[in-house]
Amino acid sequence: MVGNIYSEIREIKSYALDHKIPIMVDEGIDFLTTFVIKHQIKNVLEIGTAIGYSAIMMALANPNLKVTSIERDKERYLEALKNIKKLNLENRITLIFKDALDVKLNDTFDLIFIDAAKGQNIHFFENFEKNLQNHGYIITDNIDFHGYVAKEESEIKSHNLRALVRKIKQYITFLKENEAYHTTFYKTGDGIAVSERQS
Ligand code: SAH
Ligand code: MG
Repeated sequence: MVGNIYSEIREIKSYALDHKIPIMVDEGIDFLTTFVIKHQIKNVLEIGTAIGYSAIMMALANPNLKVTSIERDKERYLEALKNIKKLNLENRITLIFKDALDVKLNDTFDLIFIDAAKGQNIHFFENFEKNLQNHGYIITDNIDFHGYVAKEESEIKSHNLRALVRKIKQYITFLKENEAYHTTFYKTGDGIAVSERQS
C-alpha cells in the first residue's frame, strides 16, 4: 500500500542529501514535471537514475507516463528499486543496471532525459538519439554546472573541474550547431537544455 506520497518523497530527498546524491534541484524538477504534463509525454528514457527521484516525480506528474531509467552504481540502483516499490510504480518505471554507454535499446521514446556523467553528454546523446521518436525531445540537466560554466577558466582552480566544464561547453556548442534539433537553454535550476528534434 502506498503510504503518504509526500512523506515518501521527503524521505527520498533527505536520503539524497545525507548520502550526497546529486538529485535534481526543486526548480529543475518543477520544470521537468511541468514539461511532461504540457507535452503529454508517454515514454521517457532517463540516463542517470540515482535513487529514482526524478523518474518517480515524472511518473507521479502524469499517470500515463512510463520511464525506462539507466544507472551504473549498484547501491543507487538498489535504493531506486526500493523507492519505486514503495510508491507502487514498478509497472511504470523500469530500471536498467548498467553503464549507459553499453546499453543498446530498440524502443522509442518521446523524451530522453540526460542526467548522468556530465563529461559524457555527447556520447549519451549519440548513443540514444536513434531511440527518439520523430519530433521528440532530449532534455539535458546541469548545463550551468553550479555556475562554473559561466566562469573564466582562470577562476577554476581544480584541473579536473576545468576539464569537466570544458566538456560541458563543448556539449553546448554541439547542441547549438546540431541542425537536426532546435535547442533552447533555460537558466532554471542548474541549467536545462531542451532539444526538439526537427523531423
Ligand atoms: N536523475 C537523478 C539524478 C542522477 S545523478 C535525479 O534527479 O533524481 C547522476 C547519476 O548518473 C549518478 O547516480 C551516476 O551513478 C549515474 N551515472 C553517471 N554516469 C553513468 C553512466 N555512464 N551510465 C549509467 N549511469 C551513470
Ligand atoms: Mg542533474
